This record gives sequence, C-alpha cells and structure tokens, in this order.
Amino acid sequence: MSLTEIDLHKQLKKYFGFSQFKGLQEDVVASIVNKHDTFVIMPTGGGKSLCYQLPALIEEGTAIVVSPLIALMKNQVDAIRGISSEYGVAHVLNSSLNKTEVKQVKEDIINGVTKLLYVAPESLTKEDYVEFLKEQKISFLAIDEAHCISEWGHDFRPEYRNLRHIIKRIGENIPIIALTATATPKVQEDILKNLGIPKAKTFKASFNRPNLYYEVRPKTKNVDADIIRFVKQNNGKSGIIYCLSRKKVEELAQTLQVNGINAIPYHAGLDAKTRSKHQDMFLMEEVDVVVATIAFGMGIDKPDVRFVIHHDIPKSIESYYQETGRAGRDGGEGHCLAFYAYKDIEKLEKFMSGKPVAEQEVGHALLQEVVAYAETSISRRKFILHYFGEEFDEETMDEAKMDDNVRNPKKQHEAKEDLELLIQVVKDTKQ
Ligand code: ADP
Ligand code: MG
Repeated sequence: MSLTEIDLHKQLKKYFGFSQFKGLQEDVVASIVNKHDTFVIMPTGGGKSLCYQLPALIEEGTAIVVSPLIALMKNQVDAIRGISSEYGVAHVLNSSLNKTEVKQVKEDIINGVTKLLYVAPESLTKEDYVEFLKEQKISFLAIDEAHCISEWGHDFRPEYRNLRHIIKRIGENIPIIALTATATPKVQEDILKNLGIPKAKTFKASFNRPNLYYEVRPKTKNVDADIIRFVKQNNGKSGIIYCLSRKKVEELAQTLQVNGINAIPYHAGLDAKTRSKHQDMFLMEEVDVVVATIAFGMGIDKPDVRFVIHHDIPKSIESYYQETGRAGRDGGEGHCLAFYAYKDIEKLEKFMSGKPVAEQEVGHALLQEVVAYAETSISRRKFILHYFGEEFDEETMDEAKMDDNVRNPKKQHEAKEDLELLIQVVKDTKQ
C-alpha cells in the first residue's frame, strides 16, 4: 500500500484529530507505510509515538512495538484507546497478564482487531509468543527507545541485544522502525548494526533548543549559597536542581527551605506515596523548586520549568542534554546552569571502579566529554550540538547569544587555545 500526502493528512485528522504533522512526522509515516526500514532520531517531545502509531492504525495486521518500561506502555495504550473507541486496537503483552487475558489478546490479534501490540523485550523472548507471532500478519516492528541497545547510550539494556535474532524468527521481511531521542553518532551506529538495518531510511530532527541558555560556573565550597542567590533572583519561577546523591538532595532541599525558598526533595529513597505527592506539588505549582536525583524526570512534562541547575556535573553530555531538556518546554526561557569542579569528575570515576572494565572504559570516555564541555571556551551550544553530530553556526544564528561563553567571551583566553586556533586558520588558508 502506498499513500499520497493528502491521504496521510486525512488519516492524521481521523485518528488523532491533529491538522498538522509535527516536524518530520509525515516523511517518517510515509517511509513506514512504504515498508522501508526506518530510523527516527528526534528529541524528547518531538512526537515519535505518532510516527509508528499512525501507520499501525492505517495498515493491515498488527504492529509490534518494543518498549522498555511497562509504565510507558500502559500510558501509550491508554492514550491510543482514548482516541479509538475499539477496545482491542492496542494491547500490552507482558508478564502481568493472566491466562485468560493472554488468550483475549491473541484472539484480537488473530481477528485483526489489534493494530498495536506493545511488548517488553523480555516477553518477546518467550518461545510461546514467538511461535504465535510467527503465524500472524505483522505490519512492522517498532523499537522505541532504541538507544537501550547500545552500551554508549544512557540506558543500556542487555535484553535489547537479542532483538534482531527474535525479529528474524518472527519474520524475515518485516520492516523495522527504530526510534530514539539520543543521537550521538556512536549510539546511532550501534542501533543500525545491532538491529541489522544498515540501509534504514534515517530521519533526524535538530537537537537545538534555541530558548535554552547554557552556563557553567566553577563549583566552590559556597555552591549552596550561589544556588540560593540564583533561585532568589528567579523568585517564583519553577526549577529543578539535580544532585548526585540522595543525601545531598535532602540537605540542599532543607537549606533552601531554611532560606525561605519553597523547595521539596525527590529521590528513589522516598516511599512511592511521598514521591508522587512531591511530584504533584511541583506540577500543581504548590512548590517552586524540586531538588532531585536523576530519578526525577522520566515522563515529567511541566511546560514552564524556567531553570535546571546541576549541583553536581552529570556523567555524560547526553544525560546533561536530557536533564536540561526539561526546561522551557513551552518555548519560553530556560536557564541551564551547571556547577563544575574537577573533583566531582574524580568522584564519578571512583564510582565506576567496581564495574566491568568495558563499562569503565565507556564511562571514562563519556566523562572526558563532560570535562571538555565544562572547560571549553567555545559556544556551549555548538559543543552540545557537535556532540550530536550536528553543525551549529554561531556566526549567523541568534540563539548563539544564549550561552555564557558567547555572551562573555573568556578574557584570559588561554594562549594555548589561541595558538591552536591560529594553526588551524593557517592550515585552512593553505588548502
Ligand atoms: P516523544 O516520544 O518523541 O518524546 P511523544 O510521542 O510522547 O514524543 O509526543 C509528544 C507530544 O506531542 C504528545 O503530547 C503528542 O500528543 C504531541 N503530538 C505528537 N504529534 C503531534 C501533532 N502532529 N500535532 C500536535 N501534537 C502532536
Ligand atoms: Mg517516546
């Protein structure tokens, strides 16, 4: 089946009620409908789900969607059921189902009612399911959060490594769609290689966030006071402050409270009830500031977060991008401020020392990039985008000003760097 543009718009309106595709969605949908292996790289919030949901609803048969988290799958299934009156249109197949439920899911697939079947990678390894799915009409296989396949990603899951093997058993010619929000060239390469889709049509959206201001400040023993001052200068605005340890989260939240700032802690050591209460308080604007470990963030969609502060530098540029990405979702200002001391890098290195050597090597390389980011005197935005394999021309783009290094070029511009620059210029003019 091949569809024209007009048809896709009609289908988009029919199933989702949207009158326009976002970014590259239309091209992606067309690629999938035309049975191409497809690779989608879009920042969080870019609208990746629709890229496979719409083709799944249009096409005959069932699309299998591999997703790493049961909670994410449930959300998606609920959302899909919300837009479609048919109950069977989306199903989850996982270990939480009883026998009767599994039977129902299978019947709906056989009858062609189920358009989307969400599975966790470990469920897909179950012999019984593979045998069953082999006999069904499968429209395509979508791998969401595909970076989980790569050790270079921020969320490596070994179960993802078996996917190619299983997919082959379900069917040799089923189109594969991989989607991710993490776009380092290394991760990209890993995904294509591991899924065995080297020729996939690739769609990559820009990762530039023009409304975010990037800043790094040296971390001294007065860092808490620096943070208090910053938050007071941004009185009444919503913000997130990330710390490495639960203990520091508790301490800093308390320090802020003592200083009259409306702040609460959030970390995985709090019980589930407190966590969800604190999350709601932040979302409902009963508090201004959440002090948190990285446990806070997955699925948080507060549009008007005005600042993200890192009390401790994160372990990779990618994590930093994800965490700061929670600022300014509404397109309004978002200040991303990281406090940096080399001592913290050493601490992170030490944390890794118990891990397998291969993991340590990856971790070390990622950390070196963080050091380079923190210590660079070039545009931070340019640095981040370069990390994601993207060019950014600060000469011509307005958002270049949204960057401490561009706004206040370092006075003590190290002679060494100037020299390197000069050598480069000489080389360029010679060519
Ligand atoms: P991602 O998986 O890339 O992080 P999602 O698929 O969760 O992003 O989509 C983010 C938000 O964008 C959702 O609220 C979704 O409903 C919305 N969205 C997606 N496509 C469109 C569109 N074409 N028009 C308007 N809103 C859209
Ligand atoms: Mg998503």
